[in-house]
Amino acid sequence: MLKENLTQVEEKIDAACRRAGRDRSEVTLIAVSKTKPVSTLKEAYDLGVRVFGENKVQELVEKYEALPEDIHWHLIGHLQRNKVKYIIDKAELIHSVDSLRLAEAIEKEAAKHQCTANILIEVNVAKEESKFGLMPEELDAFVDKVSEFPHICVKGLMTIAPFVADPEENRPIFARLRKLSVDIARKNIDNITMSILSMGMTNDYQIAIEEGATMVRVGTGIFGARDYAQQGNVR
Ligand SMILES: *Cc1c(COP(=O)(O)O)cnc(C)c1O
Repeated sequence: MLKENLTQVEEKIDAACRRAGRDRSEVTLIAVSKTKPVSTLKEAYDLGVRVFGENKVQELVEKYEALPEDIHWHLIGHLQRNKVKYIIDKAELIHSVDSLRLAEAIEKEAAKHQCTANILIEVNVAKEESKFGLMPEELDAFVDKVSEFPHICVKGLMTIAPFVADPEENRPIFARLRKLSVDIARKNIDNITMSILSMGMTNDYQIAIEEGATMVRVGTGIFGARDYAQQGNVR
């Protein structure tokens, strides 16, 4: 099942890249493995998957410790300041930086570990009340402040688009995120590059790729439906 799913997702990514005139190498597939057991991740690993996304700190840490070292771990979910210390040396990229206080906590932990933290700024493009992320109009001021943090490197932007029946509805959201990133990149600010656009999930990653995504976060499409009976979280 996993193998067939992966093959299908790969084919769809290929097709979306072709439609958009993009090279497949421009898009990284992040296998979103939240709620799935280590054994399932190992199965994916054996099929060649090396980039996994988790949305909870504790789950990421547990899986990090149980699985091979050459895995690239991405933290994609909301991050609490007091938990930064657990993942600072484990997550290669934090996709979900949504406040200055969180950025400050990351700066502090990265300084302690003498490393540079790679982050994306989460933008609530659709302005959904239930979602985390900065409002688009808050971005400029935020970027200016974070650029002063020596242990943080901003790599780009991330958004979680609304859950819609027809993924085409999210095309303008993805186009908007791309436009925001182009506008920031143009300013040539220290410590700020806009090389990564993390957008698109199972429901809409093909559209996101057509609109410029460089990272797509696919969970259900690879691993099947999630069982939240024990976890009690959403999406
Ligand atoms: C769960 C999750 C995903 C993957 O969702 P699917 O619809 O299962 O592909 C992507 N991004 C974030 C931030 C998530 O929490």
